[in-house]
Amino acid sequence: APAGKPRMPLHTRMLIGFIVGLGAGIAANLLVGEAAWLDAVIRYVADPIGQVFLRLLFMLVIPLVFSALVLGVVELGDPQSLGRIGGRTLIWILVVTTAAVTIGMVIVNLFQPGAGIPEDVAATLLASGSERAGQIATQREGVSGIDILLNIIPRNPVQAAADGDLIAVIFFAMMLGIAATILRTPATKTFVGAVEGLYEICLKLIDWVIQLAPYAVAALLFSITARLGLDVLVQLAQFVGTVLAALGLHMFVVLPILLLLFGRMSPLVFFRGAQPALLTAFSTSSSSATLPTSLMVAEENLRVPRPVARFVCTVGSTANMNGTALFEGITVLFLAQFFGVELSLAQQVLVLLMCVLGGIGAAGVPGGSLPVIAMILVMFGIPPEGIGLILGVDRFLDMCRTVVNVCGDLVGSVVIGRHEVAAPAPLPPGD
Ligand code: ASP
Repeated sequence: APAGKPRMPLHTRMLIGFIVGLGAGIAANLLVGEAAWLDAVIRYVADPIGQVFLRLLFMLVIPLVFSALVLGVVELGDPQSLGRIGGRTLIWILVVTTAAVTIGMVIVNLFQPGAGIPEDVAATLLASGSERAGQIATQREGVSGIDILLNIIPRNPVQAAADGDLIAVIFFAMMLGIAATILRTPATKTFVGAVEGLYEICLKLIDWVIQLAPYAVAALLFSITARLGLDVLVQLAQFVGTVLAALGLHMFVVLPILLLLFGRMSPLVFFRGAQPALLTAFSTSSSSATLPTSLMVAEENLRVPRPVARFVCTVGSTANMNGTALFEGITVLFLAQFFGVELSLAQQVLVLLMCVLGGIGAAGVPGGSLPVIAMILVMFGIPPEGIGLILGVDRFLDMCRTVVNVCGDLVGSVVIGRHEVAAPAPLPPGD
């Protein structure tokens, strides 16, 4: 039977799931400890429930990333509608997102919020983690830097998709997008239309899957805390603090500097004008849902020329996600620390690259980055179950990172708009 309309908003239910899972897990850990039946409950009830959710997320990642990237490239490359703006937008997205991820990764390396789990506990967790993660971890062993680069190009795109080799799929999707943009025949337009359909269907499916999140949160948290006990809470608080610090740095230091240097606009004027969009982003946790407000704000309050506003904000709402990319970087490294997975410098650079692409590939919906994070975790042999750990606090962090995402789009539209108008900005028409 179709699920009835939930009476409580999703984030409330997720919070309840979080508290129930956490409380029950800690209580079980303290009261029952090592009992065999607790082990059975974890293994045969809690773990499978969490697995259903994780598998559904995995199921969506390939079609979602594929369709989002083909469309992103097609939108950026449309020669009629602003090829030049497209190029600048692309540069903006790549540079600013890279800066965001770098901030996040430096901070997480400095503070090590995930470290400190006793080694034997981490080892048990790792051993009980998904087999798939283990397999992929061993597959990746002994892969050198040059192989990592070569592996970006898939020998066989279908196999890359089947292996969950995200970066190769991304490469393939981008190549398709570029060719489709250059060709622009009726048949290629039909193809792009179909990809658009696939994208919209994926969004709908994500919407459904996210409805399961409260149960998954409870189950995943129960599994983890019943095994680990109270130690986890400290780690989680450190995680939230790290993410907020990095997001704040990007939004209140990096973006304003770029705004002043390249957009010649005072941050005060900007934040006052951008406020409605930032508040919408905070309350909806969705860049896509915020798009109408950001368009309005960009054109009316920030006086960005209309075609620029339309292009940069629209593409940005799905492809320019500074906060999301930053969050992905922190989360992956946090969970690597948590599970004691050592990542070499080369691997961290690859994580950075994946997160920049992940910011482009993630959907602008609540929790849109979760499938991407799950995939990156598997890629580096980090148990994807770790997502359960962060899910409970995810809604709040999602709200915050969406604000940063939208803020990055708006600053980008101001900067690119400024450079479209060769002469000094015209005086606003008298009103
Ligand atoms: N909710 C974010 C957005 O729409 C995506 C994410 O990070 O989950 O921008």
